[in-house]
Amino acid sequence: MGIIVQKFGGTSVADAQKIHNVAKAAIREKEKGNDVVVIVSAMGHTTDLLIKLAQEVTVAPDSREMDMLLSTGEQVSIALLAMAIQAHGYKAISMNGQQVGIITENVHSKARIIDVKTDKLKKHLQEGEIIVVAGFQGVTQEGEITTLGRGGSDTSAVAIAAALHAERCDIYTDVEGVYTTDPRIVPKASKLDLISYEEMLELARVGANVLHPRSVETAKQFSVPMRVRSSFNLENEGTLILGADTMEIYKPVAGVAEDSSQVRILIGEVPDSPGTAAKVFSTLANNSISVDMIIQTFGKNEHTNDIAFTVDSKDLEQTLKLMEAVKKELGAKEITTDEDISKVSIVGAGMVDRPGIAAAMFKALADQNINIKMISTSEIKISCLVDKKSGKEAIKALCKEFALESEEVAVVKGDLPPV
Ligand code: ADP
Ligand code: ASP
Ligand code: MG
Repeated sequence: MGIIVQKFGGTSVADAQKIHNVAKAAIREKEKGNDVVVIVSAMGHTTDLLIKLAQEVTVAPDSREMDMLLSTGEQVSIALLAMAIQAHGYKAISMNGQQVGIITENVHSKARIIDVKTDKLKKHLQEGEIIVVAGFQGVTQEGEITTLGRGGSDTSAVAIAAALHAERCDIYTDVEGVYTTDPRIVPKASKLDLISYEEMLELARVGANVLHPRSVETAKQFSVPMRVRSSFNLENEGTLILGADTMEIYKPVAGVAEDSSQVRILIGEVPDSPGTAAKVFSTLANNSISVDMIIQTFGKNEHTNDIAFTVDSKDLEQTLKLMEAVKKELGAKEITTDEDISKVSIVGAGMVDRPGIAAAMFKALADQNINIKMISTSEIKISCLVDKKSGKEAIKALCKEFALESEEVAVVKGDLPPV
């Protein structure tokens, strides 16, 4: 038998009873003769509450100290889960990111994993222990604690599965699998039995937060078979994620997603000369700020352009600071910000070479009187920026347009995070 990696999210370990259920799910795999590594997130809404606490202490918490704080959430769950497994009579050991050797780059709050050491993991597996690892955290070569970004425990799980050449990586969560859209927005969204790495990666990147995008990227890179399934219904097979070449494509659009966490920044009237865009975007890249949509249009005055782009709202303050300096250096006229935006996207490998998909998307939005502020496309994705208040309505309209609903109402277990 092989190595099975299981990951349980916050809702799945929200209280003592649920932790016992997770212990039983781990033991079930062990009983089948597998070696088992379990990755867990912080209990319930712990991470949200820790962030709120930091914001009560200071408006601008230091990013290193934030990682010190947020990484504690997962440490609570691993100890409790190891205790629960032991209470059922099985051998278990908890390990944090540093103890395992989950090595990341030297960036706080959104570090990427660069290596996972396997010597200690293998030693404990050989001793017959179920290993419980803290998700979401890592350590730099210099020994600094880092975190991987919200939802990053999925990536911890897949990275460990890849390093151990695990047979499977099962992501247990509070819904029954991957749906055509968030079932909290469209309760009759269809559950997908299969989805390709490529489509899942795009869906995760454009806002389907059922999986952390880097977890899918890692699974694709190392061909880790991955399943999303319910921790409240262990019999359900959930959704299998695997390579596109093994699948037949039936529908042009596999899923739709909304991302309301972006902001749009416009730099008005920058000189129309070589190197201007390079200056703007290299400044952002050098500060680890990812840019999503970009549009450059002619400015109001001759020999100038307007450059608009979107970034995650968490990066807004730092982006504005950096862009003020760039504005001065380039002699641009103004910087404006639009926070009232939501990005809605359709994703599907089946849209390649199939004309009319973009037109159908724009028409579905127009029929709801939803104005499009920006458009971007890639081979298997089309995204439109709309007013924040229209985001959910747009998702519902797109589900209808591309026949993404079923007869059944999805089972959703977790409650929404506190505000
Ligand atoms: P966990 O704490 O287990 O990591 P998350 O909250 O990160 O759980 O992810 C599960 C949630 O993702 C679901 O409750 C659902 O609301 C949301 N979600 C968004 N898009 C989708 C989708 N396409 N399919 C399934 N769930 C989705
Ligand atoms: N606890 C972290 C979060 O809430 C990581 C995770 O759940 O994956 O974002
Ligand atoms: Mg998650």
